[in-house]
Amino acid sequence: MKTTRLLAITGALLTMAFSQGLQPTDANAYEFFTGGACSKLKWAGDPLFELSTISFPGQFSRAAIHDPGNTIENVGGHWLDFGWTTFNGNAALKNGDNEIYGASFAQWDMENFAGWARVRKNYVTCKITEVDIVFDSDDLWYRGVPEDYGFNYWQSPYWLTINGQSRKSMRQVALHELLHAAGLRHEDNTWAMMNYGDRPWSNHQPEHQMSPLPDDRRGLRVLYPNSVTENDVAIVNHYVNYDDVSSNGVPRQRQLCVAAGGDGFSDSMFDTYCGKPTKLFVCPGDRIYTRFSIANYSTSSTTVQQRLYFSSDTTLQTFLDTKSDTVWSKSLGAGRHHREGHSFVVPADLFTGNVYNLIMHLESDLPNEFEGNNWIPLRGQIVTANNCNPAFHNN
Ligand SMILES: [Zn+2]
Repeated sequence: MKTTRLLAITGALLTMAFSQGLQPTDANAYEFFTGGACSKLKWAGDPLFELSTISFPGQFSRAAIHDPGNTIENVGGHWLDFGWTTFNGNAALKNGDNEIYGASFAQWDMENFAGWARVRKNYVTCKITEVDIVFDSDDLWYRGVPEDYGFNYWQSPYWLTINGQSRKSMRQVALHELLHAAGLRHEDNTWAMMNYGDRPWSNHQPEHQMSPLPDDRRGLRVLYPNSVTENDVAIVNHYVNYDDVSSNGVPRQRQLCVAAGGDGFSDSMFDTYCGKPTKLFVCPGDRIYTRFSIANYSTSSTTVQQRLYFSSDTTLQTFLDTKSDTVWSKSLGAGRHHREGHSFVVPADLFTGNVYNLIMHLESDLPNEFEGNNWIPLRGQIVTANNCNPAFHNN
């Protein structure tokens, strides 16, 4: 599998200071485009992006751009609008219009890139004046959400193999490029879409499954301040891996380990299993080792309770599913995230000889908090052993 980089920035040589093993220091990790005397550059008004009807011929294709774009609008005010024209932008770079289209990257010797945001800036006014976003038409793309292709959102990577062909996710690339278009630069020091996003699908409505992470949102709110209050926390099963750095210095994000029993945590959060030595058959009193990430999208701080549910399927039904007695609590500032590693005691009131899915659930203290993305099935399953002392319930 060839390595891929999500993007290049026109004319900008990124000098990324990075040392391996660096711990996240996300105090103000979001980065803006700079130049001249400008510490940041932003749009003066709402830019209109014209989508090529040749590159994006139908509603499904168009939604691959619109949906991630709308998740940005919900954060930083209405600065992003989409039009729909018949142009084919190949010959028309930097013509004064904001365009989104597909073209062969081979002509620019950029075969390893998937998307490209060409940002034109005015260093006198500190304004962004034009952005063209180009997708590599030599790549095979998938434009929907994972479920459209029979994949689970919680285990879907940036690459999917569909009908034997390797495809890239347009929504992830689109969100990354649109955030560049808003004025955000690459970020190598925290968990963000401006990092090289790999699998940040969350359990949201399809059009919101791919949305800016907390660090991206804080950057947008600084660029385009508004008085909108947001109360939302989410859980996902990936995190940024500072030991896996792309060729231009940005650490990649990776799926976290599969929840499992054991005597302790695995050495790395990116190991295959979180429990070491890995135990998939468990008894009452054993511990399940889990890793996951909490994203506080909110404009306020929050405290979240974290609880593990044992479910016969991958949907959380709090009435039916058995919950852990173990509860962990975490307080997060506005627009902050945290990577969690916790173990949960296996309760005795499970049934013997059953396969259970493990679902992690967050409960936030914020009023009117959107709860749809507060739970996620962790990857993997455990089995309740038959020969336990004390025993589980009998079926
Ligand atoms: Zn980028």
